[in-house]
Amino acid sequence: MIYKRSSALFAAAQKVIPGGVNSPVRAFKAVGGDPIFVKEAKGAYLYDEDGNQLIDYINSWGPMILGHAHPPVVNAVIEKAKKGTSFGMPTEIETEIAELAIKMVPNIDKIRFVNSGTEACMSAVRLARGFTKRDKIIKFAGCYHGHSDSFLIQAGSGAVTFGTPNSPGVTEGTAKDTLLAQYNNLKNVQEIIASNPDEIACIIIEPVAGNMGCIPPVEGFLEGLRALCDANKILLIFDEVMTGFRLAQGGAQEITGVNADIVTFGKVIGGGLPVGAFAAREEIMNYLAPVGPVYQAGTLSGNPLAMAAGLAMLTELNTKADIFKSINDKTAYLHKGIAKALEAENITHTINRLGSMISVHFAEDNVVDFESAAKGNNETFKKFFHGMLENGVYIAPSAFETWFITEALSYEDLDKTIEAVKKVAVTLK
Ligand SMILES: *Cc1c(COP(=O)(O)O)cnc(C)c1O
Repeated sequence: MIYKRSSALFAAAQKVIPGGVNSPVRAFKAVGGDPIFVKEAKGAYLYDEDGNQLIDYINSWGPMILGHAHPPVVNAVIEKAKKGTSFGMPTEIETEIAELAIKMVPNIDKIRFVNSGTEACMSAVRLARGFTKRDKIIKFAGCYHGHSDSFLIQAGSGAVTFGTPNSPGVTEGTAKDTLLAQYNNLKNVQEIIASNPDEIACIIIEPVAGNMGCIPPVEGFLEGLRALCDANKILLIFDEVMTGFRLAQGGAQEITGVNADIVTFGKVIGGGLPVGAFAAREEIMNYLAPVGPVYQAGTLSGNPLAMAAGLAMLTELNTKADIFKSINDKTAYLHKGIAKALEAENITHTINRLGSMISVHFAEDNVVDFESAAKGNNETFKKFFHGMLENGVYIAPSAFETWFITEALSYEDLDKTIEAVKKVAVTLK
């Protein structure tokens, strides 16, 4: 494939935008080469500026769970835009989407909308600190909760892809309040709590990790965290920015049966517009301004276009309940096909999957935490990435990302993808 126009656009972008991108995960730094510029997208396909059609496994990093330019979402935005794009005053649609989200997700009474997953997680932690009157938080190595200061301690996703899991600019004062634990290691969390008695406000976790590849929680891990939180008056925050409205209507809480105290959302909830949200039981949410003392605000929060896209998306997911089974089945089919193709060529690999979250690791051992994820062979991944691209399949340009499966994928697309893996596998030895 030829990327002449993309490369020219990238050269122009680099002169005026740091690294030519507005989010580092879009750069091809970890795999080499220039990023591809998108012209448009429809359903399961991207159309780039050089005229190539690509099967898309990023899907805007999650939001496009029903495919690109999904008509009900697009139409909702167009109709809303005609009536004004922002007022900074309350609108009815904010209550409508709040009611629907609360109906779909277990264990939440009230929800507040923000503009990104980062903002949701940052606000959730502030609320937890205000509510508990404690300062410290526990996060897990390899989990990503957005780019707010307290989370850039051994963060996953782009932070680890680019080798800066601990970012300069985060002060020691901030860093010392973030305690780092190992994913899937309950004993480790227990020890941290024991050595910081009555100091920990919250544990924030991706209930199914998706930013170091996909790492499901081991049996009893989330239940154990719930018990530790209850015993020590710590709030449990499920960061469901990736898992929310993807694993099920009620996200990871629904499929695991474990209740969080605060839940954060992003990605799918905005249907492709900039939306995040955080939610909890009434007692906690009423701690927020203007009713409570914890301040949180946003000029464009609850923006009508964003709410229209989000409401259209959630309505689709709420009324077509078989979507989740369908998308999980597609992902399972892909899992099987990729595994067979790699096995046929004796390529060392581990595939992790839960529901419609899946990741391919070129690693020998089980991938259960950041340490085991980091053992994957990055040289093999690079070859895999470029090989897939050459065959018309676009996966995330990093070994530390989950593939985002969309319902718009047909079984024919999945077969094409598996054929591509077969061709690429031969070159990986
Ligand atoms: C994407 C993501 C975030 C950050 O969301 P943004 O909208 O990019 O700020 C936070 N947490 C998780 C689990 C994510 O996957």
